[in-house]
Amino acid sequence: MGTAYTSMAMNLATPGQQLAIDPLPRDVDVLVIGGGVIGVTSAWYLAQRGRTVTLVDKDDVCAGSSYGNSGLLVPSHSRPLAAPGVLAQGLRWLLDSASPFYVKPRLDRDLLAWLWKFRGACTAENVRRAVPVLRDLSYASLALYRELAAIPGFDFGLRQDGVLMVFRTKARLDEHRHEAETLQAAGISARVLDENGARELEPALRPDIAGAVYFPEDAHLTPDRFVRGLARLAQERGVTVMPSTEVLGFERSGRRIAAIETTRGAVRASEVVLAAGSWSPALGRQLGVRLPIQPAKGYSVTCDAPPGGPRLPMLLGEARFAVTPMGDALRFGGTLELAGLDLTINRVRVDAIQRGWRDYLAVPGELRLRQIWRGLRPCTPDGLPLLGRPRALDNLVVATGHAMIGVSLGPITGKLVTEIVAGEKPGVDIAALDPDRFG
Ligand SMILES: Cc1cc2nc3c(=O)[nH]c(=O)nc-3n(C[C@H](O)[C@H](O)[C@H](O)COP(=O)(O)OP(=O)(O)OC[C@H]3O[C@@H](n4cnc5c(N)ncnc54)[C@H](O)[C@@H]3O)c2cc1C
Repeated sequence: MGTAYTSMAMNLATPGQQLAIDPLPRDVDVLVIGGGVIGVTSAWYLAQRGRTVTLVDKDDVCAGSSYGNSGLLVPSHSRPLAAPGVLAQGLRWLLDSASPFYVKPRLDRDLLAWLWKFRGACTAENVRRAVPVLRDLSYASLALYRELAAIPGFDFGLRQDGVLMVFRTKARLDEHRHEAETLQAAGISARVLDENGARELEPALRPDIAGAVYFPEDAHLTPDRFVRGLARLAQERGVTVMPSTEVLGFERSGRRIAAIETTRGAVRASEVVLAAGSWSPALGRQLGVRLPIQPAKGYSVTCDAPPGGPRLPMLLGEARFAVTPMGDALRFGGTLELAGLDLTINRVRVDAIQRGWRDYLAVPGELRLRQIWRGLRPCTPDGLPLLGRPRALDNLVVATGHAMIGVSLGPITGKLVTEIVAGEKPGVDIAALDPDRFG
């Protein structure tokens, strides 16, 4: 491998020019696989604790799901996707090609096993168990975001303006009253507003909406500015960041990973952090670690922020997508498509997002498009991430499966990874996140 890389470098370099690829170190302290929000926050906190960190990504930092997402930091999303009623709703949506939820029909054993486990997790007991865990992680993460935002020169657009969940119909608003009550009972602030109350908070809403639920503690940020900015700061503090470095496999020796094979040669590491998002299961499989994750594709459409456009982030209740003001841009993001590791763009779904916001917002004229994007959320069947050391290996930490709230939970996950690597008792109880919990 090393020889192949050297000869490639020699072929590509014009005489007298330096090739802009650094050699991969052969022995490292901690190797982090994946340059998304989870890998980068892990690298940051590990370096803060004095570890020597190398982060590799097959593409680049923030090339995956962490790039074009909605950037919402949402303690209000502490109710997992796997909840009572979700299956019935999902089945209704399956018949509609523009619906916010879709499962591409295919005979895939992993998908079928995942759906079976998901079905089993759609219970009131799963919600009761998951809400306090996700709530504590979300609040802890929000506090870390505030600390990070205080680093001089590190502006990633963090704002704690709350999030408004808007409904066009009284029936859907009433349904969500109950959800809001579950969250309030768990200590998460939520206020149900009629149409006037909602429009007072957000004048860009149409007058014919039914009302909204307001979550005042939620926040938002610009995700690529955060992830890339933190990666840069981490580099300044000694983290080696290696883009275009794909992990191909592992050499295992007993209970340890002896070496990691990459497209740029083999590397030995004292500790390995697997934070490869939706691509983690394939890597885990090579180590005999089963990670039940299905990629759930979502889309975002980013436009220039229009004059008189929304100032608050919103979730458009019936349409099931988010609207996030990000400085001079406005981003619409949503839909959930279980179609495997497939990044093709389904225009019907993108059109549904591009059209759907007009049912909620009174913004005149056309919006100027900046970018259509899609990403793969790494989803577990019970809606909780996989975080911890799998039983089978002494030098691996798994940190993935954050589904729709990976940005929300980024910093706390990075911090917890650091504590697990150090062999300390984690600051937040993470027993429910055990990566072996599905057997
Ligand atoms: C439309 C949409 C909207 C969303 N909105 C929100 C939101 O508002 N709030 C929120 O909290 N979350 C949101 N999410 C979810 C959030 O984006 C994800 O949970 C989060 O980005 C997952 O981060 P990650 O680091 O685990 O994965 P990723 O960001 O996907 O990073 C994984 C990285 O691993 C790399 N990799 C993969 N395989 C290998 C390999 N073999 N070798 C080396 N590198 C490899 C990839 O290139 C990638 O860069 C949204 C997602 C979508 C799609």
